[in-house]
Amino acid sequence: MSDKQFDVVVIGGGPGGYIAAIRAAQLGFKTACIDEWANAKGGPAPGGTCTNVGCIPSKALLQSSEHFEHAGHAFAEHGINLSGLELNLPQMLKRKDTIVKQNNDGILFLFKKNKVTFFHGRGAFAGKAEGGYTINVSGPTTDTLTAKNVVVATGSNARELPGAAFDEKLILSNTGALAIDAVPGKLGVIGAGVIGLEMGSVWRRVGADVTVLEGLPTFLGAVDEQIAKEAHKLFTKQGLKISLGCKIGAITKGENSVTVEYTDGAGAAQNVTFDRLIISIGRVPNTTGLGIETVGLQVDERGFVVVDDECRTSLPGVWAVGDVVRGPMLAHKAEEEGVAVAERIAGQHGHVNFNTIPWVIYTSPEIAWVGKTEQQLKAEGVAYKAGSFPFMANGRARALGDTSGMVKFIADATTDEILGVHMVGPMVSELISEAVVAMEFKASSEDIARICHAHPSLSESTKEAALAVDKRSLNF
Ligand SMILES: Cc1cc2nc3c(=O)[nH]c(=O)nc-3n(C[C@H](O)[C@H](O)[C@H](O)COP(=O)(O)OP(=O)(O)OC[C@H]3O[C@@H](n4cnc5c(N)ncnc54)[C@H](O)[C@@H]3O)c2cc1C
Repeated sequence: MSDKQFDVVVIGGGPGGYIAAIRAAQLGFKTACIDEWANAKGGPAPGGTCTNVGCIPSKALLQSSEHFEHAGHAFAEHGINLSGLELNLPQMLKRKDTIVKQNNDGILFLFKKNKVTFFHGRGAFAGKAEGGYTINVSGPTTDTLTAKNVVVATGSNARELPGAAFDEKLILSNTGALAIDAVPGKLGVIGAGVIGLEMGSVWRRVGADVTVLEGLPTFLGAVDEQIAKEAHKLFTKQGLKISLGCKIGAITKGENSVTVEYTDGAGAAQNVTFDRLIISIGRVPNTTGLGIETVGLQVDERGFVVVDDECRTSLPGVWAVGDVVRGPMLAHKAEEEGVAVAERIAGQHGHVNFNTIPWVIYTSPEIAWVGKTEQQLKAEGVAYKAGSFPFMANGRARALGDTSGMVKFIADATTDEILGVHMVGPMVSELISEAVVAMEFKASSEDIARICHAHPSLSESTKEAALAVDKRSLNF
């Protein structure tokens, strides 16, 4: 095999792509990964949206801004008096950039460790080759590769609002929202989804007056209604102004401001001028410059690469994973698909259970869930029983000083199998994995209720909510 001939070439080095490449190499395939993301110095920055302008930098800023808020508002209750508290935004942003770089470098190290050949540049199909495909690499690296198997993992980009193109100065996508160089006095956010709420929270905590405009009449429609209502109440109390049912009209840029005309949920015309505007109305799959026409790779009317349940595309030997295909746009979903595809190429039985993919919104309090919501089960006519437990009654939450929210279990009315677990409260991004494991093993709520949980811990709320399904909570 020539050194430009590979068993597996992965196009895209985000969580779907780099993980697929590592697993393929572990399985003994000669593997390459091509990724075009460049850092400020033009060097390679693998890790995709997640590492560079998504999961990782947003969590870094969420953590820093939460510390700032605690220092300003929560420390005094613990008997810690602070004076002269100041925000050093350049340092906060620098810390975020350092964490991103550590992750980029970590992936390059993992490629070396697993013998994945990395190409920094854009990968594009150039046609069919004997027993596979020809892939051109252009950009910092120029090359031509051939591959028996190709994994497309090219991710997604932020969706623009017509007439309001991102300039990343005044009108911001997630990229600009993670790098604002001075706290805006008034910040507008269009879209109350995961990204809008996380970004809105960061900038509110460090002093911005944040207004979130959402088109839908309900808040967090995909979240269990009881949890979404609680979260809405808590976010509003924190000072996030959330306006539902808005119809966005003209968006006009001034020299240092953006004006948004909209009709609010009550039908009244509104006109608000912001210092910055974040638009977070969803993401679109990315197949730009991928040369799909040269091989006839099928995409649907919304631009997603068409795949079956096992990530096979319309072409033999070509697979696609992550944000560029159907299903939730989540890093861990992309990773699971990447692993499963590598294993399927090796003739193994890759496994992704779409029913047990956890969702998390890293606001404070956090929101996390897995499985079905009450409203979904009602619509499907499934008989269920539900039980919940508030963090207010949890000793560890009281000691932490964060008693907001609850854990809620939903179980089948007859078999008691857990159908969904929903949480809003402190650190629920960590607590949700117990529910995921339980559902993977088809546990009943009684199974969780009978398991010993450490005291005092937030996880006791999970046990108590499971007990509540049978109306026998011990501490509430
Ligand atoms: C602000 C924000 C916060 C988020 N937070 C979370 C979170 O907390 N948890 C979570 O699970 N998800 C989160 N997400 C979503 C998560 O980032 C995505 O679901 C995930 O990155 C998708 O992975 P992917 O590998 O499919 O694509 P991507 O991460 O988008 O990676 C695709 C890569 O392919 C490269 N590429 C594209 N075309 C080519 C080409 N032709 N040649 C070479 N390279 C190419 C791109 O440059 C990119 O590096 C967040 C997203 C955003 C925007």
